[in-house]
Amino acid sequence: MGAYDCSIFPVKDALEMIIIFDRTGKISYANDAADRKLEYGGELCGRSICDVFANDFKSAENGFETEYPFGHEPKNLVAYRRNLTCFPVEARIVSSETEPDIYICMANDIHEKEYLSREIAQVKQDAEQAMKVKSEFVANVTHELRTPVNGVLGNVRELLDRELDEQTEKSLQLIERCCGDMNKIINNILDFSKLEAGKFTLEPRRFHFRNMMDYVKGQHINKITEKGLTFFMTVSPQIPEYVIGDELRIVQVLNNLLSNALKFTAVGKVTVEVLKTAQVNDKIELFFLVIDTGIGIDKSDEDKLFQSFSQVDASISRKYGGTGLGLNICKQLVELMGGRIGVESQTGKGSAFSFSIWVGVSGEEEEVSQKMDVVAQNLLGNEDEGDIRRYGTPENMDALKRNLSKLILCVEMDNWEKAEMFMDTVKQLTEGAPREIGRVMLRLKMAIQKANYDKVIAEYEELQTFL
Ligand code: ADP
Repeated sequence: MGAYDCSIFPVKDALEMIIIFDRTGKISYANDAADRKLEYGGELCGRSICDVFANDFKSAENGFETEYPFGHEPKNLVAYRRNLTCFPVEARIVSSETEPDIYICMANDIHEKEYLSREIAQVKQDAEQAMKVKSEFVANVTHELRTPVNGVLGNVRELLDRELDEQTEKSLQLIERCCGDMNKIINNILDFSKLEAGKFTLEPRRFHFRNMMDYVKGQHINKITEKGLTFFMTVSPQIPEYVIGDELRIVQVLNNLLSNALKFTAVGKVTVEVLKTAQVNDKIELFFLVIDTGIGIDKSDEDKLFQSFSQVDASISRKYGGTGLGLNICKQLVELMGGRIGVESQTGKGSAFSFSIWVGVSGEEEEVSQKMDVVAQNLLGNEDEGDIRRYGTPENMDALKRNLSKLILCVEMDNWEKAEMFMDTVKQLTEGAPREIGRVMLRLKMAIQKANYDKVIAEYEELQTFL
């Protein structure tokens, strides 16, 4: 190949023309693109650079003369083919760092570059157009599907109101369930195509936060009972009564996570926990946790979960159904609400999905929320906080419930040390409480010390009846 070893460069098949020449102008290497475009049929090596750039490189006694300013700045030159026809190129010619008498020329055919840019722009435009057509098609089809499904659903419900024999009633209930499932899939596809097309907008309004959580619980209570699962839901008292956000979409994310938790859990429990994790002016960050004791997810599959159409494996979709769109929609919705979604899981033990979102609080609610924060911060750190320490006052009850929910969260997460810490606080908050509460407290404390999960839950439930 001559004086300069080119094998170290991945240049042979490069689209750019690459020519290496020496001080005498003699070409020692030309890659395939250079040889092909300059039409030398494999014979460019050995020629002079003055043949290629005849206008700018002139033969001289000891090689060539040129006014070309060597360097990395691209310059326009005219390249001559073997048959003396020519075309414009954009070229950079630099001298080798290791061997100063060796020059490396990298050149692009300007016409070809422009043509390629136009082609790329066209392909991009075609792809965007195809995407638009596809989104419109999906939106139309799903819309058209919804009408007959709702027609069937309406009629089935009407029939179900009549006097029916057992078998007919069962069949109709099955049809009703199938229509419900089809509607869910249709809605998922519609949401997905809107989100993908960037046409999705949130509709925030003021709503009662705990009512929303009760509504979510109500939607799943039948399934929970049917499967015989234990269910806990705790909402931190620091969260104001009313918040401003897109209630429908928050419910959608929670419903998706809860349906999955119930779908993939055969025995044990499902827990939902909501905490307030930050406040900036009139915005608060809410942190939701949905924990189950189900089949769990393999570490290597966790990343795939939030991608569209992704189910952990085909056998799971055969056994449990679903489209694999739910979590991707959740991710996109949560991100639209300024938050993030994630999962921690262990195969065979269960999964903990969590997500955060930002919601607004109105002036009045903001004051309440901040007051609750102060109460929480001062808790037991200030002797004057008599109302918190006095059992039965609203402040005491709020603090008690909040600490109890944190205690249970720690137990759920197997963090017994931290649970004991919360137990101490809870114990102090119940000083002066009726004797039966004192007894439950004692048993709860012992159960925590022994890290006995079932016992803790039983005592916690008993405590709830007193509070
Ligand atoms: P699908 O509608 O198919 O359930 P999702 O996006 O909601 O779609 O979930 C995708 C996949 O993630 C599920 O098919 C399942 O493999 C896995 N998955 C989601 N939630 C859980 C969970 N709580 N426990 C175990 N696997 C889960």
